[in-house]
Amino acid sequence: MRGWIERTVRTDVQARTAYAVADPGTAIRLNQMENPFGWPADLWRACMESLSGAEINRYPDAAGRELIAAIRAHDDLDDAWGVMLGNGSDEIIQPLIQAICDGARPVMAPAPSFVMFEVIAGQCRVPYVGVDLNRDFSLDADGLIAAMQRHNPALLFLAQPNNPTGNLYDEADLRRVIEACPGLVIIDEAYGPFSSRNHQSWLGQYPNLLVMRTFSKMGLAGLRCGYLVGDVAWIEQINKVRLPYNLGVLNQAVARFALTEGRAVLAQQSAALRVGRDQLFDALSARGLRVHPSEANFMLLEVDQPSAVNASIAAQGVLIKDLSKAHPMLARCLRVSIGTDAENAAFLAALDVALKAQR
Ligand code: PMP
Repeated sequence: MRGWIERTVRTDVQARTAYAVADPGTAIRLNQMENPFGWPADLWRACMESLSGAEINRYPDAAGRELIAAIRAHDDLDDAWGVMLGNGSDEIIQPLIQAICDGARPVMAPAPSFVMFEVIAGQCRVPYVGVDLNRDFSLDADGLIAAMQRHNPALLFLAQPNNPTGNLYDEADLRRVIEACPGLVIIDEAYGPFSSRNHQSWLGQYPNLLVMRTFSKMGLAGLRCGYLVGDVAWIEQINKVRLPYNLGVLNQAVARFALTEGRAVLAQQSAALRVGRDQLFDALSARGLRVHPSEANFMLLEVDQPSAVNASIAAQGVLIKDLSKAHPMLARCLRVSIGTDAENAAFLAALDVALKAQR
């Protein structure tokens, strides 16, 4: 078998490490920017009833018409804008790269940013160029524009708020970068429900801009549903390389239910997480730690010996993310997602123990 694999699997794939997520067991999960709240029982029951009779014997609507209509209503989008669905927004990155990149012009993004931009570019054998943010995680607009002139990217991903730094870039810098980009710009608004800026309203202003969103951070990470919005002519092209039945019947139906009947609950949950975020920020700052202000449902904090602190917190049953090896700028950084009040308190207690052990 080994010989077969070595002879037949692409060598760059053999050299890759799989995206692995450890079984969290019973630990408190503050490592994946999930919404910690489930649905109230009556909403869940109504959702189940709405699924009764769903035609799971048939292929789903490949065009996702009903779900897209609900997304249009939710986001206040008229028919001038096309919407493409993905099985999570992760999945949308792939058809975007396949439709746009011919393998010569690179994909670009600031660094550090969401890792899947680089991972999927690599899987598609498209070069990738990351351009460092400034030390304070603001966008180095001049540096990025100079790099774009040098590398001529076909695609530029800008996560807003950015993962893992949690911030929004200065609006004028962002606009300057979009205007200077020789390729297509994707603003990834995965953390939109927690952010003070909405970039969908920028769509009409730039011919080379699309906006990607996800249901995951809104509270439905288990559903796997994301979407891309932009001029119908762009969406028509990218849709050609999407797998036609990428969202199942149940997936589409629950997503639609969530955007309509579940809308108020999801909005309340996001609002509670914004409050929890601000409280956690204050609690961490009060401990004298450097904490980075966040417009998302997570934040970065800096500690001495982050890997040891993370290991101690994990040993106490709370999972957060050690980013100290992810990028030199993050050498002191841990990322914590916002949980319920009880989960945030458990994290703080575990952090206190870990920091005390250091002294
Ligand atoms: N974009 C960003 C910036 C993210 O951080 C994530 C998930 N962590 C995603 C996209 C992907 O989300 P999903 O595939 O769950 O929609």
